[in-house]
Amino acid sequence: MSSIDFASVRKVYDESIVAVDGFDLTIDSGEFLTLVGPSGSGKSTLLRMVAGLEDITDGTISIGGETVNKLPPRHRDIAMVFQSYALYPHLSVRENMAFGLKRSTDLPDEEIYGRVEDVAQLMGIPELLDDRPKQLSGGQQQRVATGRAIVREPAVFLFDEPLSNLDAKLRKHMRTELQRIQQELDTTAIYVTHDQEEAMTMSDRIAILNHGELQQVGTPRDVYNHPQNLFVAQFIGSPSMNVFDVQYEPGDENGRLVGDVTLEIGPEQAARIENATTDELKLGIRPEDISVSQTSSEEHIAAYVDIIEPLGGHDLLYFELEETDNFVSTDASTLGDDTAPEAEVNERKAFIEPESISEDAHEVFLNLNLEQAHVFDAETGLNVVYIDEQEQEVAPSV
Ligand code: ADP
Repeated sequence: MSSIDFASVRKVYDESIVAVDGFDLTIDSGEFLTLVGPSGSGKSTLLRMVAGLEDITDGTISIGGETVNKLPPRHRDIAMVFQSYALYPHLSVRENMAFGLKRSTDLPDEEIYGRVEDVAQLMGIPELLDDRPKQLSGGQQQRVATGRAIVREPAVFLFDEPLSNLDAKLRKHMRTELQRIQQELDTTAIYVTHDQEEAMTMSDRIAILNHGELQQVGTPRDVYNHPQNLFVAQFIGSPSMNVFDVQYEPGDENGRLVGDVTLEIGPEQAARIENATTDELKLGIRPEDISVSQTSSEEHIAAYVDIIEPLGGHDLLYFELEETDNFVSTDASTLGDDTAPEAEVNERKAFIEPESISEDAHEVFLNLNLEQAHVFDAETGLNVVYIDEQEQEVAPSV
C-alpha cells in the first residue's frame, strides 16, 4: 500500500502531441481513485506513465515517496489489469495466475501456489483453476486477470478500462466485486474509464480530465453537486445537465437572466454572477431539478414536449423551449425544404413522475429549481461560484 504523487506531470508524444499537461495530484494510500474523461483526454497515458510503460516528458511521479521516473516497470511494485485480459491460452488458470510471481520472484512454488489458491477463493473461481482460458466466459476471464494482479500483492493496482468487454449486467456486478476486493486488500488503486457512471459508483474520488488537463478532483458526490466548470457539469451525471444560454441584467438588488429562459434571481446569486468576466452566461440545471406541469402560471417557462421516455421508476421528458429560434415543429421538419431551420441539437430533459403528463400533451410548463442551478461564465466555462478561487488552478473548460 502506497500513496502516489504526480507533480507537474507532462507528456508530449512525437514532439507536438500534448497528451498530459501540468498534472498535479496526490492519491492517498489505500485510496480508489478513478481517472475519467472522454477518449483522448490522457487517461491511459497517465496510467502507463505510473506503470513505467511510457516515459515522462516533464515532472515527477512518486510511489510511496520514491520518485519512479527512471525506475523500470518491474521494480515499481505495481500490477496492471488491462481491457484485454491477456491470458496465456496454453496455460491453465492456475499457471496464468502464478506466472508473474514465478518470473519476477524467487518465492518457492509452495508459497506461490498457496497464494494462487487463496486469491482464487477471494475471486470466487477456485473450481476454475485447472481450466484453460478459452473454456471460460468473459466474466471469468476478467476474474482470472484481476486475480493474477492480486497474487503479486502489489503496492498499487492499475486498472485500464478492465470491464469494457463485459455485458452491461456483468459489468455492474464486477464493479461491486472489484470495489469489495480493493477494500478488503486495502491497496491503492487507479482505475481508468471513459464511463462516468462507472466512475461515480466505484471510486473514493474521481479525477476528471479533458485535453490532458485535470478539470476537477473530488468525491463522486462533490463533483456532481459542485462542478467547478461547464465541462465537469456536463460530463458527470446521466442524463447530462441542461444548459441554457443567458445574459445577466443587473437590477437594484435582484438581477435577471434573459435568453433561452428569463428568470429573476435573488441578491445573493446576483452578487456572485457579478464575478463573471462577461454577461454571457450558461445556466446549468439537472433533469431532476426541473418540475413539469400541464398548467401554466406566471413564473413557469413554456416548453414543447418532444418525447416522453418511460424508465420505470420515473419517466424522462425531452423538451424544447418555445422561445428557441431553431425550434422545429414536427410539421416543419417533414417539409424537407432548405429554408427549414436546423434541428435543435442541445437535447433538454426533465425527470417526471410516470404518467404525470398525458401522452398527447404538446405544451408543458417548467419550474426550474434555482437553488440547485449552476451558473457558468460562458467565456471561461468556470462556475461563477468558484471564480474567486481562480488562483486555485481550476482549469477553464472552454
Ligand atoms: P485516453 O486514454 O483518455 O483515451 P490517451 O492517453 O490514450 O487518452 O491519449 C491522449 C492523447 O495522446 C491523444 O491525443 C492520443 O491520440 C495521443 N497518444 C496516445 N498514445 C500515443 C502514442 N503512442 N503516440 C502518439 N500519440 C499518442
